[in-house]
Amino acid sequence: MKIGIIGSSLAGLVAGKKLGQAGHEVTVIEKTRTLGGRMATLDDGEGNIFDYGISHFHANNPDFVSFVNYLKEENLVDEWSSRFEYFDGSQLHDLNPNRSPELHYASTRGFSRVAQKLSRWVDIKSSVQAGGLTYIGADRTKKRAWMINLTDVSVFECDAVIIATPATVAYGILMTAQDETPARRIIRHVDEFNYDPSFTVMASYRNQEVPDWDAVECAGEHLKWVINESSKRDNADTSLVIHSSAAFARNNKEEDPQKAASGLLQQVARITGQDWIAQPTAEHYHYWQYASCRNPIDERFMELEMEEAPLALIGDYLGGNSAESSYLSGLRLAEYWNEKYELARV
Ligand SMILES: Cc1cc2nc3c(=O)[nH]c(=O)nc-3n(C[C@H](O)[C@H](O)[C@H](O)COP(=O)(O)OP(=O)(O)OC[C@H]3O[C@@H](n4cnc5c(N)ncnc54)[C@H](O)[C@@H]3O)c2cc1C
Repeated sequence: MKIGIIGSSLAGLVAGKKLGQAGHEVTVIEKTRTLGGRMATLDDGEGNIFDYGISHFHANNPDFVSFVNYLKEENLVDEWSSRFEYFDGSQLHDLNPNRSPELHYASTRGFSRVAQKLSRWVDIKSSVQAGGLTYIGADRTKKRAWMINLTDVSVFECDAVIIATPATVAYGILMTAQDETPARRIIRHVDEFNYDPSFTVMASYRNQEVPDWDAVECAGEHLKWVINESSKRDNADTSLVIHSSAAFARNNKEEDPQKAASGLLQQVARITGQDWIAQPTAEHYHYWQYASCRNPIDERFMELEMEEAPLALIGDYLGGNSAESSYLSGLRLAEYWNEKYELARV
């Protein structure tokens, strides 16, 4: 089959790799220039690498554990020591009492390298956004069942579609096909997912000693996580990534990002007692509109019931808001389709 995957998420790339290895012809359509979605990395060109989406993850499922072992062998991830502190809203504690006893893994060279590694098994069309779908399966003069309509006004024709974006984006894409297909049931389902935003600051500090904590988990009003990137790899400068709370992101969406960042940095300086944090040498920002799904469900993928025109949805909102759930979502769909469409392969 010729398969079009919308979104170069971890889920999309894992599904693409597995389907590609089984002989399907896979193209991943990605709206941004870079791959990986929320597995996002900034290289500031000054010797500093920041993972400004996912910061670390756990691995429990045996399939995901073996993927993580492969990434370890490739020197892309490693166990991350867990000197976590916890800010309860008024006080900083040495060790986060809510800390998971599981191992933490972090990227050694930036999570976007994981996406680059996975992308070798698929064709990539980047910097082009999927705006909608047209079902052409019933039209016998056309060879393919689907047309993915791209915002550069071109189209991508394929036999099967996988939407590997946050649910809210998948909703918009599916709406365009609701008249010709039985998509309505899935649309109703997908419409129920809600997301929290996050405002993220990446800050570097020249000639500053690296803090002796790896991360601070925050239960305060404005902050969610402070991550010490310098504890993951040898960055040239001391580097921090700060994720705001959802409430802070919502309240400051229209604000000048520099002002919002300054407010967060001052709070981190106050909480940790490390005044220098308020005065970075350089800073960058990112607003995550879909940082985390508030109501993920316990299903690995959703499929439209159309044998002649396969369409499925995958992503971390199916399974649980983590790299592990995203991986398993992509993997399980690919395993299912590889079995189901083996004979139909062209
Ligand atoms: C701030 C933050 C912190 C996080 N921390 C952790 C953590 O500590 N541990 C953990 O396990 N997970 C964490 N996560 C979640 C983790 O990043 C995700 O679970 C993981 O990256 C997989 O997401 P995904 O596969 O569902 O899709 P995404 O990563 O959201 O990918 C979707 C892709 O689709 C693309 N796209 C969207 N619309 C279109 C369109 N119309 N056309 C083409 N392409 C499109 C996007 O550009 C993106 O590349 C965090 C996320 C954020 C944002």
